Amino acid sequence: MIQAKGYAAQDAQTDLAPWNFEHREVGPHDVQIEISYCGVCHSDLHQIKNDWFPGIFPMVPGHEIVGKIVKVGEHVKKFSPGELAGVGCMVDSCQVCENCKDGLEQYCLEGNTQTYNNNDRSGVPTYGGYSNTIVVREEFVLHISEKLALAATAPLLCAGITTYSPLRHWKVGKGHKLAVLGLGGLGHMGVKFGVAFGAEVTVLSTSPAKEEAAKALGAHHFVVTSDPAQLEAVKGSFDFILDTVSAVHDMDMYISLLRTNGTHICVGVPSEAYAIQPFSLLGGRKSVAGSGIGGIAETQEMLDFCAEHDIVSDVEVIDIKDITASYERMLKGDVRYRFVIDMATL
Ligand code: NAP
Ligand code: ZN
Repeated sequence: MIQAKGYAAQDAQTDLAPWNFEHREVGPHDVQIEISYCGVCHSDLHQIKNDWFPGIFPMVPGHEIVGKIVKVGEHVKKFSPGELAGVGCMVDSCQVCENCKDGLEQYCLEGNTQTYNNNDRSGVPTYGGYSNTIVVREEFVLHISEKLALAATAPLLCAGITTYSPLRHWKVGKGHKLAVLGLGGLGHMGVKFGVAFGAEVTVLSTSPAKEEAAKALGAHHFVVTSDPAQLEAVKGSFDFILDTVSAVHDMDMYISLLRTNGTHICVGVPSEAYAIQPFSLLGGRKSVAGSGIGGIAETQEMLDFCAEHDIVSDVEVIDIKDITASYERMLKGDVRYRFVIDMATL
């Protein structure tokens, strides 16, 4: 077994603390990565707090992983030691179902294997990127360009693909009015991609203080959602809303901002079910949709697009011992726009 060290939550009530654990040996099709940086996703916080479902503890969170390859199995073809590599939210899937064959491993009909808080296909718990190393089968490892700043590339592995994938799926681009709801880790990447794809982008935010930063990210307009006059002015105007909000919010109010035939795309995952009035949808033939991360080929496509267009995340690099304080700041919306752990501080 490979000895690993990281930060784990021992249960849903206790703060993360140092913990030693083991990964499997590098198998013939595996890649071992020495982790340099790991992004801090709001999903990490949801999961260590059992917001969605009871978690598997001890839990080592982290699914925005970048680092250097230190070892590859004898049958690995696409990767070599010394190269940069990334790992996102999944480390395995059945590989043979209809969805896996279509490059939609995230929707594997048998369920994908999540990078942490999951059991792998042999029943062993998976441990994520708040740690010094990880072993992943080759098909779930991504190539990372040397051109991009490494720490700022880490969040692309979740926040990046989770916003890129729905914008591509719904072909959001020139001629579309896109609203990005919530300017956090996902939201700020949604703005960057929306602008890169040619859409007219509006940020819908609860935080007036983020206006200047939103414009600096490329957003064309900024609406403070607590101001009724600003909301009234954009009623019925958006083709798409990309909803990245992590907490319960008033869906009917936001859906009223869509134009006829508009689509409200949920990527945020609040801990409670959405409540939506039927009339909010049928008056204007509106849709509410959802999207989960992205497949491996599309994640590589997104990373290559970012390398070509010089797109990375705006990050605040932190020491791993500050992780609990960083979660508290994230809950208050006080992060510009993604915390990334420097694993050298482990
Ligand atoms: P984040 O950085 O905390 O950003 C969330 C933003 O939502 C906040 O910055 C805030 O922006 C806004 N917000 C928070 N509470 C709100 C409320 N009560 N009403 C309205 N807006 C509110 O979180 P994140 O890492 O981007 O993740 C966002 C959500 O996406 C989480 O639920 C996460 O689990 C989920 N997620 C889903 C997928 C997927 O595959 N679908 C993948 C990754 C993450 P303002 O200050 O601008 O209002
Ligand atoms: Zn995530």
